[in-house]
Amino acid sequence: MNKNADLKVFISNRDSKCEECGEELGRKSWITLKEEKGVLCLSCADMDHLLFLPSGDAALTRRSRKHSRLSAVVLKWSRSRKRYERQGLLVEEFAL
Ligand SMILES: [Zn+2]
Repeated sequence: MNKNADLKVFISNRDSKCEECGEELGRKSWITLKEEKGVLCLSCADMDHLLFLPSGDAALTRRSRKHSRLSAVVLKWSRSRKRYERQGLLVEEFAL
């Protein structure tokens, strides 16, 4: 049972701009990256209805991921560790 690969949402560490609506996205904005389109804000990516579920509750994370048709991993760049770190999951509200 292989669902689609998780979508990824990044907490931006620099200023950028949504390629679709042109919204200015500053540091700490939540963005998605699409190969063909570049940077998108969450509303243009149709993900602004999702709820954030912080990492920590493994059972809840597993369950909501199973029930949510759409889920995305939220990643934030860690300067000290020089890599993206998982902050939690975006899932559909009814899955919680
Ligand atoms: Zn946009």
